[in-house]
Amino acid sequence: MPELPEVETIVRELDAALPGRTVRDVRIFRADALGGVAPAVFRAALRGRTVQRVARRGKFLLFHLQPEAWLVGHLRMTGKFVVSPPLPAPEPHHRVWFALDDGALLIFQDLRCFGTLAVVERLADHAGLAALGLDPFSRRFTAAWLAEALAASRAPLKHWLMDQRKLAGLGNIYVAEILYAARLSPLRPAASLAAEEVARLYRAIRRILRKAIHKSGTTIRDFRRVDDRTGEFQNFLRVYGKAGQPCPACRTPIARRVQQQRSTFYCPTCQT
Ligand SMILES: [Zn+2]
Repeated sequence: MPELPEVETIVRELDAALPGRTVRDVRIFRADALGGVAPAVFRAALRGRTVQRVARRGKFLLFHLQPEAWLVGHLRMTGKFVVSPPLPAPEPHHRVWFALDDGALLIFQDLRCFGTLAVVERLADHAGLAALGLDPFSRRFTAAWLAEALAASRAPLKHWLMDQRKLAGLGNIYVAEILYAARLSPLRPAASLAAEEVARLYRAIRRILRKAIHKSGTTIRDFRRVDDRTGEFQNFLRVYGKAGQPCPACRTPIARRVQQQRSTFYCPTCQT
């Protein structure tokens, strides 16, 4: 599932390609992604609007449009945006085509159909965004905020970091890598961290995410960039998916446990 660095990679590529382009038409091949909105309503809301810029909050993609509106997308498991030359017919996983005024197609494709698209006049009108916690690159995300938020929680550290209502954008891969970099056990109660440990965690969150964005995200199964290239951060993973392999720092075999039905990978020696 794409996490913050993969979505940021896509957003940067779309933001380089789309601003100034006007949506001439919208073709919907499967309406699952529209959350119950009638295809004709979705089409009418987008037609004739021009993309100003593409941004991100947590794992949501935000297309700012003029006249004022927002197309808000979430890739979930297997959603993808592709910018393509005109095509004669949709491919099997194409869900929506946005025909642009320069002849190109912005294609939303989704193998498993969990991705979502919505058009809203104001971002505050979008329920998913309204429920979202802080983005790790927002100005409000500080070590002091993190210390206070962790202290108020009863959850294990990993659960807290995965909770999009607290911090928006992290998932299983980056939480594993961040906790390894911070030398903190995913099993620790969030509220048990000392000030120095919170500072380590705060620095690790920003450092790992920055590095992953710099490497254009992680491709393990499905993630592809807008031009279909893969990310490269999979070559820099230390613990995720490495159960039984030696820890790069201490040679202890990386452990795997299940938390919230998801695999947790960590070094039982380095992460305390
Ligand atoms: Zn270790």
